[in-house]
Amino acid sequence: MKSQLVFNVLKIKNEKIQYDLMVTAEELEITNLDLVGPVHLTFELYRRANAIIVSGVIDFSIRLICSNCLKIFEQKFSERVYQEYIKGKEPIKNYFQQLEDIDFDYEYYDSDFINLSGIMRDTIELAIPLAPWCDPNCKGIDENII
Ligand SMILES: [Zn+2]
Repeated sequence: MKSQLVFNVLKIKNEKIQYDLMVTAEELEITNLDLVGPVHLTFELYRRANAIIVSGVIDFSIRLICSNCLKIFEQKFSERVYQEYIKGKEPIKNYFQQLEDIDFDYEYYDSDFINLSGIMRDTIELAIPLAPWCDPNCKGIDENII
């Protein structure tokens, strides 16, 4: 199946093009999260100087286990996504350059195609809290026993 998230760079112009896509966990290669339904991507794709830019929002729901009461619950997320792609090969950096670059929002591409699934997947994975709570007022496990 041809991925909806692979774009021909040569067809991306300065003019912003809006996309509104529904994609599955399989298409994003997400295997470690319990996604509820498809992921909704709304973003624009355009060229600025020597970079291809993707900017938009990812809406999705995920089934999580409350770290306080262990109940399974669903949580909705709406995450901003932004990435710049620059043509060329990624320069080899030493350790300290890598540390300095950690906040940089760009990636490299060296063919005529870019695949947005990586940035979409990373944004989703980074949004998930390490210790989710089902509710800010969750009373924890004791309440369920009483
Ligand atoms: Zn809870």
